[in-house]
Amino acid sequence: MKILLLGSHGQLGWELQRSLSVLGEVVPLHRGSAPLCGDLSQPEALVQTVRSIRPDVIVNAAAHTAVDKAESEAELARLLNATTPGVLAQEAKALDALLVHYSTDYVFDGSGEAPRDEQAPTAPLSVYGKTKLEGEQLIQASGCRHLLFRTSWVYAARGGNFAKTMLRLAQEREQLSVINDQFGAPTGADLLADVTAHAIRHVAQHPQHLGLYHCVAAGETTWHAYAQYVIERARQLQPDLALKVQAVEPVPTSAFPTPAKRPHNSRLNTQKLQQNFGLQLPLWQQGVQRMLQEIL
Ligand code: NDP
Repeated sequence: MKILLLGSHGQLGWELQRSLSVLGEVVPLHRGSAPLCGDLSQPEALVQTVRSIRPDVIVNAAAHTAVDKAESEAELARLLNATTPGVLAQEAKALDALLVHYSTDYVFDGSGEAPRDEQAPTAPLSVYGKTKLEGEQLIQASGCRHLLFRTSWVYAARGGNFAKTMLRLAQEREQLSVINDQFGAPTGADLLADVTAHAIRHVAQHPQHLGLYHCVAAGETTWHAYAQYVIERARQLQPDLALKVQAVEPVPTSAFPTPAKRPHNSRLNTQKLQQNFGLQLPLWQQGVQRMLQEIL
């Protein structure tokens, strides 16, 4: 099996290099790759890449993920998150390749408290959410064989993320203020990558299980409780770490105005994924603790 992996230097892309390697030959490309183009802002060149590699599977881990910046560069966000994934889907269809792509809890408006399943109505609040949803729709409309995974609050040992920011701030400041009215599940890029590899194998035998899935770690938390967990665990794992922080104050979203609106309820129901693929998703704390052990 030949797998074209786009976005190989991102949090998820890096983990996918590892997890996909047991399935076959992986061709990892990133934005700066040469001579093969791995740049999603150049769809024509990307088409040439796909046609020259003729992959059995295209895994797209690249995206415009800067949620606030997307508000002021909507055209670029649309190109990277919607138009180019749509072009990739057309190419996958022409080659009869499988396309694997990732989306987000930000396709929802985050009202209510219940976890949303894959059928729940979408209503994105931000340019990022809107363009990610358009990407989903273009892939679905193309008729290509696809796996679409919506996930949330992604972290990894490599790359920047909330947990690492909290660890840094806890070393610099005595008091932190963190939002406590957004609910979701921190999800490890390693978990997502492992589920992806399993799902690719599974759908080869069970094509009826292609389609859209919610894929997040089990359990739920707020950014505030997540920050507290990271700091407490860091104290236990590395007692010598010079953590200045004395208090983590819970604050509402309104305390930190941002260009992009975020959903309050990012809970995703993962039953379909667990049932169709015969998988069990671990509690979010398990992966976060492992990441902390790795970076501390
Ligand atoms: P990262 O931001 O870590 O990785 C995204 C990658 O896309 C980066 O390596 C970036 O490259 C690359 N990229 C940006 N622009 C281009 C371009 N023009 N051409 C090629 N590559 C480009 O994100 P994650 O790994 O966390 O995200 C993986 C997927 O999961 C994405 O689809 C994202 O939308 C989705 N997701 C992520 C969440 C999160 O919390 N991070 C939450 C929900 C969904 P460079 O490093 O050079 O900028």
